[in-house]
Amino acid sequence: MAWAAALQAWLHPDAAAGIARLPDPVSAATPLFLVLVSLEAAVSWRRARAGKGPPLYNWRQTSSNLAAGTLAVLLGVFVKVLHLYPFLWLRSHGTALLPWLPQSSAAGWLGNAAALLVCDFGFYWQHRAQHAANVLWAAHVAHHSSPDYNLSTALRQGAGEALFSWLFYLPMAFFCPPDVYALHRGLNTVYQFFVHTQLVGRCWWPIELVMNTPSHHRVHHARNYGRRNFAGILIVWDRLLGSFEEEQASRPCVYGLDASPIVQGTYNPLWHQAHHLVATLRLAGSGKVPVWRALLTRAHGPGMVAPTVTDAEPPAGAPSSTTAGTAGTARSAAKGAPMAAAQPAQQPSQAAVPPAGAGLSTAFVSYPWERRALGPLDWYAAASFFLVTLPCSLAYLLAAADGILSPGWTLAGGAWAAWAVTGSAWLFGGMPAAQVHEMARLLAQLGAVLGLLRWDALPPPLSSWLARGAAVLSLASLVFLYSQAAQLRQACGGTKTARAASGQGKKAA
Ligand SMILES: [Zn+2]
Ligand SMILES: [Zn+2]
Repeated sequence: MAWAAALQAWLHPDAAAGIARLPDPVSAATPLFLVLVSLEAAVSWRRARAGKGPPLYNWRQTSSNLAAGTLAVLLGVFVKVLHLYPFLWLRSHGTALLPWLPQSSAAGWLGNAAALLVCDFGFYWQHRAQHAANVLWAAHVAHHSSPDYNLSTALRQGAGEALFSWLFYLPMAFFCPPDVYALHRGLNTVYQFFVHTQLVGRCWWPIELVMNTPSHHRVHHARNYGRRNFAGILIVWDRLLGSFEEEQASRPCVYGLDASPIVQGTYNPLWHQAHHLVATLRLAGSGKVPVWRALLTRAHGPGMVAPTVTDAEPPAGAPSSTTAGTAGTARSAAKGAPMAAAQPAQQPSQAAVPPAGAGLSTAFVSYPWERRALGPLDWYAAASFFLVTLPCSLAYLLAAADGILSPGWTLAGGAWAAWAVTGSAWLFGGMPAAQVHEMARLLAQLGAVLGLLRWDALPPPLSSWLARGAAVLSLASLVFLYSQAAQLRQACGGTKTARAASGQGKKAA
């Protein structure tokens, strides 16, 4: 079928272009990422128990980070073509213009060094642009919307970035074979995982001088600094281009976003990805500013972060969003924060125009509706996400990358994974529609599995005993959710009431 062939070429552009399968360092490093996240969580938990620092992990937030990462990788499966075809087109046409371009994959150390530099410089501009234009910030904001900062924050990726990021790496087409291009794009991403930690202080000064380090990237994520340090691997770009800022011991980093507390207070992974785009399109359609300004600058309207990169300094008279942090339980305040002592909470009336960082609590943020005790539903959400959805999504991604799945099954599997991730995340966050949503998903899953078994139409990686297991699990989950209906309603109702009571509804955003 023509559409199947077209879809196949779209999903596997390397095979369609007749080139060998490209290296994928991010997939290769994913098991290491998950091991290191678990290790850091364990170390942080021990430190907190010993009173040596606050807990750095909030399991709901961590699941939300993993959900964002999964959604971003899922979308990446379907837009790989954007990252390869324009590159190959430019490469073949560029070769006609510049016949000395290297043709073989053996790019040598010089070629690799050049690829590292140009790729990293491309990332710098991609990242800086994302902080300067609403439509690009909409794709990146998910990465900044977590009020905590740990290795799992690195996995909290903006899904929309894959739609345009390829533009910034096109210069690599002039001198990189496709495998070197893919290798360095992946390595650049892998390096950045390691800078998302509070457990590493400052490194040896020559390293701090040249490399992007945990200290430099903490400043980038801190809302009480100037949203500087856009670097990927090398901090020298920021130093050369005037966008560098040093971490100060007297100014502990406070993470998250200023003006959209509601965004930090929800665990809905779809809203994390979409909220700024919705606000941007509303602003563009409102007629208050020209459309080009709404899209291509950080012009702002209701529910959007202030227009300058310095999120810490809202315009005079603007309601201070710092109350989002201070409204939370200062779980760690009594124990002391790792970078410096926690600062006292500040009343909203005093915080109309806070100086940078003033009144921002460095304590771990916990929202009022989060304080309910963990119940069977939370354990269900955790088990279904960490034991079923996440491993099955990873297996799906590997199968899709290997080309085992037909185009139709690639689409169906991607839709299933996105739906399942969303279902678990809604339960974590006590979303009002969580129960109906999750039960509808389980019913659809059960029907699909039974149908596939009945008509003997299982895709290659699914054996019939696996499918039977999935059917039994779906049925058991349905029965469990039905038995928990009253508790779920209470949890979701509690969420609504707590949100309203904390004044962090849509109006506050
Ligand atoms: Zn950023
Ligand atoms: Zn980051």
